[in-house]
Amino acid sequence: MDQSAPPPHHPPSVDAVLRSAGGTAAIARFGRAATARAVREAVAADRAAGRVRAAEALAAAAAALLERASVPSLRPVLNLTGTVLHTNLGRAPMAEEAVAAAAGAMRGAVTLEYDTGRGGRGERDDHLRGLLRDLTGAEDALAVNNNAAAVLLALAALAAGRETVVSRGELIEIGGSFRMPDIMASAGTRLVEVGTTNRTHPRDYAGAITERTALLLKVHTSNYRIEGFSAEVAPRDLAAIARAHGVPMMDDLGSGTLADLRALGLPAERTVAEAVRDGADLVTFSGDKLLGGPQAGFILGRADLVARCAAHPLRRALRLDKVRIAALEATLRLYRDPDSLPRRLPALRLLLRGEAEIRAVAEACRAPLAAWAGRDWRVEVVACRSQIGSGALPVETLPSAGLALHPVPGLPGSAAGAMAARLRALRVPVIGRVREGAVRLDFRCLEAAAPLLDALAP
Ligand SMILES: *Cc1c(COP(=O)(O)O)cnc(C)c1O
Repeated sequence: MDQSAPPPHHPPSVDAVLRSAGGTAAIARFGRAATARAVREAVAADRAAGRVRAAEALAAAAAALLERASVPSLRPVLNLTGTVLHTNLGRAPMAEEAVAAAAGAMRGAVTLEYDTGRGGRGERDDHLRGLLRDLTGAEDALAVNNNAAAVLLALAALAAGRETVVSRGELIEIGGSFRMPDIMASAGTRLVEVGTTNRTHPRDYAGAITERTALLLKVHTSNYRIEGFSAEVAPRDLAAIARAHGVPMMDDLGSGTLADLRALGLPAERTVAEAVRDGADLVTFSGDKLLGGPQAGFILGRADLVARCAAHPLRRALRLDKVRIAALEATLRLYRDPDSLPRRLPALRLLLRGEAEIRAVAEACRAPLAAWAGRDWRVEVVACRSQIGSGALPVETLPSAGLALHPVPGLPGSAAGAMAARLRALRVPVIGRVREGAVRLDFRCLEAAAPLLDALAP
């Protein structure tokens, strides 16, 4: 290309664009190599469109391309779906204490496996063991990557090559690819199904126990409920059957909770301490469901069984890093003061918000959202019901409030979908739901108007 004097109907050279004021600014921000690539891309786009632009315009186009490419793939969104613990949106928001602990651990060396008292090797699990024991009454505890990993590890350590007995009513699938029968196969234990989908009795378990039985497993039916003509064996009764036959019983709580939710006015979910008291030899549950911490899974219960899990080779493959252990420890510490927990633990704080408080934020956002949406949209404050999510309390919902965006008559049936996409395309994406031809935004997870108003600002 002729660099010295491009005729007006030819684009400037890449070098000329890079030397322009806009080009220099882009290089300072994004680096020379990336900026040169973007300029070539802009020139190629012009050529394809049969268009010729001057150096400054090309530099601006290149900067816009670089700007778009520099938006992180994983970024914050406003969760207005009405599901508080939304798996696709990262489940529990974390406490400031956890954020600070994680950030501190990320920056430098920590006592991950180091005992400062003795000046020698310590254990990764020591940071959480004491807290988990205190909060649940369990003899011993360990933490791994997530609850799926906790179940996998416990089955592999206790029941590989032998049989695990489960009710047909509890052979759950939990989103993604967590299917209880598949996890069992991966762990090398043979699944023995007992009872029927709707009814399982004590005699079903007792009749299935042989010398090959390694474990009786109870699974919390996290995302559905069997109602009507149904019967299940209570955890306490299953623990008694297990004890009478000399086999261990494991209770997979799924979400589990360390706080007494009923006392806080929320629908009751069994606490981990209750599961331990009911006689389960091992209990497994998640760190990022109702517990409100980072992704993690816990195995706790009888010390000899936890020790077998800890000694299994899979344990090393499923372990946690320093960042998550720091966040978990900080989160678990909050449970030591149940009175301040509803204030300090965001997941719980969001679940406890009252309808009037939520409605006030929705009302403050109504007019700005209507102005942003334009004349074709009617925006109204509506009552709605939030879900807890992540399989916790699948049937109960919480009274909430939000905004509904209705297209005016005459817009095509696809209008609501297009509006939901417009909201997702904001600088901070706003994630709502489309139902009955309207976009619905549940304000339970929006504690103040400002984040939404900022997202709407041009
Ligand atoms: C959610 C859940 C799991 C999986 O837990 P993750 O932490 O998502 O791996 C396992 N079992 C039950 C009963 C669950 O509800």
